[in-house]
Amino acid sequence: MISPQTATGEPQPPTLTLTAAFEGIEGSYSHAVLDAYAARRGVVFVPLGCSSYRAVAHAVLSGRADLGLLPIDNAIAGTIREGYDVLAEYELDLLAEITWRMEHRLLGVPGATLEGLREIDSHPVVLAECGRFLGTLADVRRVPVPDTGVAARDVAAAGDPTRGAIASAGAAVRYGLIELADTIADHPDNFTRFVLFRAPNALGLAAEFEPAEDFAVRKTSLVFAVADAPGALGRCLSILGEQGLNISKLDSKTRLGVSGQSSFYVDVDGDVRDERFAEALRALREVTVALHVIGTYDASSAPPRVRRETTIAVDERPAVVPKPDKVAFPKAQRQGEHHVRSRVMVGNVAIGDGNFVIIGGPCSVESRDQILTTAEAVAAAGGVMLRGGAFKPRTSPYAFQGLGWEGVALLAEASRASGLPIVSEVMSIDQVERMAASVDLLQIGARNMQNYDLLKAVGKAERPVLLKRGMAASIDELLAAAEYILSEGNPNVILCERGIRTFETATRNTLDLSAIPVLRERTHLPVLVDPSHGVGVRRWIAPLCRAAKAVGAHGLLLEVHPNPAEAKCDADQALTFADFRAIVGELARIPLQP
Ligand code: PEP
Ligand code: MN
Repeated sequence: MISPQTATGEPQPPTLTLTAAFEGIEGSYSHAVLDAYAARRGVVFVPLGCSSYRAVAHAVLSGRADLGLLPIDNAIAGTIREGYDVLAEYELDLLAEITWRMEHRLLGVPGATLEGLREIDSHPVVLAECGRFLGTLADVRRVPVPDTGVAARDVAAAGDPTRGAIASAGAAVRYGLIELADTIADHPDNFTRFVLFRAPNALGLAAEFEPAEDFAVRKTSLVFAVADAPGALGRCLSILGEQGLNISKLDSKTRLGVSGQSSFYVDVDGDVRDERFAEALRALREVTVALHVIGTYDASSAPPRVRRETTIAVDERPAVVPKPDKVAFPKAQRQGEHHVRSRVMVGNVAIGDGNFVIIGGPCSVESRDQILTTAEAVAAAGGVMLRGGAFKPRTSPYAFQGLGWEGVALLAEASRASGLPIVSEVMSIDQVERMAASVDLLQIGARNMQNYDLLKAVGKAERPVLLKRGMAASIDELLAAAEYILSEGNPNVILCERGIRTFETATRNTLDLSAIPVLRERTHLPVLVDPSHGVGVRRWIAPLCRAAKAVGAHGLLLEVHPNPAEAKCDADQALTFADFRAIVGELARIPLQP
């Protein structure tokens, strides 16, 4: 139906209203994706929930729906084959790819607690995406259900506080559930690709819908099969490569019902109507036993891929515009082109807005066994990065000074074994280049925050920098230090509040948590908190971790040791593995600050 919008004054053009079929019920991710896409395109989608992927295709082919939406791929769980299979089985006109960040929440009925859960329902792909988080919950059954909307609806209807659902924040609102944990996917870049389609030779309103925002960016999905033989797949890939076509996805599957053959799901950048693509298809037909072109579609709505070590803007909300700074921090301050909060990528870990990270490791690398066991424990507990000093700035020249380059090599080995990126302190200019080649994040310690030549040197390095606040530095001075690094061309700076010197002697330093809301307002850079050095006493670290998350920090830097009593450095503040695990578990229940 085309509904004229009644507006005061100028007559409005009619809004195109289309029925859009998706798998699931209202409140599912597919429904949210359709809503967001319709809003962006200035059309209205009337949702038609279907019981299966196949039912979505049937709804479109029978004319009950103008458009259909199916997921085909998830960044963590991989190919959603059923989506490809249904698209391949039916003749459908593919329109557009829609890429959506899945921000999963663990939901429960009001009164439910994380510890009290015994069952968690969700779509099987979503359960897979949250595998690491779910692994930290003992005695909890994972129950696959048809979609996340169903999971949320059923948990709400049961009213049972031992049942949880993983679904979107929108589903929580729709079904009256509370959020028990957020940021629970294994990686923040948890994108799912959906494909929007209509019936071939669609008539009426479906034909009026013009999906492309920029038809220059197109993608084509294919399924082909080859007989198992050495080099068979290689020949197919070479054909595409020779025509200058980029393959953005490849997945294989045994061809059911036919022995000795494999099927490949392939996404290729480009349009089948291009001459080079047509040529590639002609050649592919010669070397495959089956070739099915699923279709070409608009791929312009894909979000920018997160580049390694690149600051990307993720928050489009208008910033509170602070008063002009007394000191100008043109690159660090949250104003103008930098009003949007940044995320810094460290290896595959995104640090910054919308994410909360926990980094753990010893004060100093002491031995191979110490750092390897710590890395394993940090990863198992849900830590995302390993810390460890190899060059240690010690108050006394007679205290343990760190293992130096040997320590850096051990850290690198622990990183390879655990998969965790590493952060380590760089103390002098002559260490910067080699350190940047060995670690993922360069730490500037509190004592060096105003070592301007060192700041300039890391500003030229091709690595992100963790800049700790000096123990007698004001917030302005911290921002000025960050500005030194940024002004040399390195955009990837993460700040760290680690406690300052005050008259107070009951704690090692005074952890200035009031700096966090101030920094969130004044700078776009991510801000971490290091309560270990801030308070200096093991038993006071957990409450400060809770406070740091609640006050809006983007993560924590924590000292952990396999045997704190024997730590060669900062023994009083070292957490045991059990302490660290408990803190990670506890923090999952504290909501991320928007
Ligand atoms: C450290 O993190 O190992 C360290 C020495 O901290 P700071 O520079 O904050 O004292
Ligand atoms: Mn320390």
